[in-house]
Amino acid sequence: MSEEDWDGGCICGQVRYRVRGPLADVIACHCRQCRRMSGHVYAATAVPQDAFELTESAGLTWYRSSESSRRGFCCNCGSSLFFDHGPEEPIGIAAGSFDGDPPLRMAAHIYVDEAGKYYTIDDEVERYDGAAWRQGGWDKLRRG
Ligand SMILES: [Zn+2]
Ligand SMILES: [Zn+2]
Repeated sequence: MSEEDWDGGCICGQVRYRVRGPLADVIACHCRQCRRMSGHVYAATAVPQDAFELTESAGLTWYRSSESSRRGFCCNCGSSLFFDHGPEEPIGIAAGSFDGDPPLRMAAHIYVDEAGKYYTIDDEVERYDGAAWRQGGWDKLRRG
């Protein structure tokens, strides 16, 4: 993991951000909502809220996706960018939205029981179905 700053944003440039590393390992979520939002699988890193800064937000729209979370996307180009669980939790950032190629590492696939039938998950990282993830998978992964 790197202590550097990283920039990223949407396709059209109306949403831009800067984060201060280290960047959390990437979690790929296969739940139905993430599949719809992303068009396939939502893969995100995360940083603490105070390490995250919007440098351009003209296109940013938040969609409240559950009682406790919201998803940020660009209303001009449609890029899916952020997953926010509230001020106490790290903000999720789409792993594909960075400008450069930050040193990200895959950590886990989650909600694999909701994965599409049209693809296979064939790497070596951990997998959790939705129930296992909700029952402490997140804490286990964060403790490392
Ligand atoms: Zn955009
Ligand atoms: Zn999901």
